[in-house]
Amino acid sequence: MKIVPVPCLDDNYAYLIIDEASGEGAVVDPVEPQKLVQLAEEHGCNLKLVLTTHHHWDHAGGNEEIKKLVPGIKVYGGAKDHVKGCTIAVEHGDEIILGGTVTIKALHTPCHTKGHISYFVTSTSGDDPAVFTGDTLFIAGCGRFFEGSAEQMYESLCKTLASLPKLTQIYCGHEYTVKNLQFALTIEPENERIKQKLLWAEQKRKENKFTVPSTIQDELDSNPFMRVDLPELKDRIGHNSAVHVIGEIRKMKDGWKG
Ligand code: ZN
Ligand code: FE
Repeated sequence: MKIVPVPCLDDNYAYLIIDEASGEGAVVDPVEPQKLVQLAEEHGCNLKLVLTTHHHWDHAGGNEEIKKLVPGIKVYGGAKDHVKGCTIAVEHGDEIILGGTVTIKALHTPCHTKGHISYFVTSTSGDDPAVFTGDTLFIAGCGRFFEGSAEQMYESLCKTLASLPKLTQIYCGHEYTVKNLQFALTIEPENERIKQKLLWAEQKRKENKFTVPSTIQDELDSNPFMRVDLPELKDRIGHNSAVHVIGEIRKMKDGWKG
């Protein structure tokens, strides 16, 4: 399978996923539908479906228009999320097939929104798996807790997503990496992996390149929100409950001016 990140609006990412065997494609959060449809054409790709991570405008806002541009395209979204233009509601564990070789599994990862879905994608052609995490998991960060609790974000990040294979490639909903790593350093000033990754990310952005994908392993090493079970994070916040720690770090980030 081939995955193409498509920068949209100011700092959003949409994605094109192509099953090369059949030429069939899917798009993730196509907020600028024309751009995605044109890109699919350039790749000789036949768009079959839309995967919506959550109901916010900067993710679901292109769904109605893409249905007009690509008649018959199926639009998936979380059953609890009231996604605009959704034609097929998915729940945790539901599977979607793309072409002959790609399987997409819906993972319910609530908190940013109630029905937020991450899409875990595997291919029989031997590529590493990938996960599209919308505004739940960012590179070195996570989304704001708009419709859920610290408990839910802990489950979403540290159970559901953390249990995916370590090499899973992470494609998130926004390019927030540099800011997130700067904040991460305020939580863990001694973490060498965060320091290195910040230098790397700053260089990438200077060259106008993407900082996606990351991997689950990389996030376990450098994303404070996925590290809340570690003694060093609990000591830093001064609390023994990982759920409490993730809530505190989120509050610190909300108030952080950078
Ligand atoms: Zn959002
Ligand atoms: Fe967003």
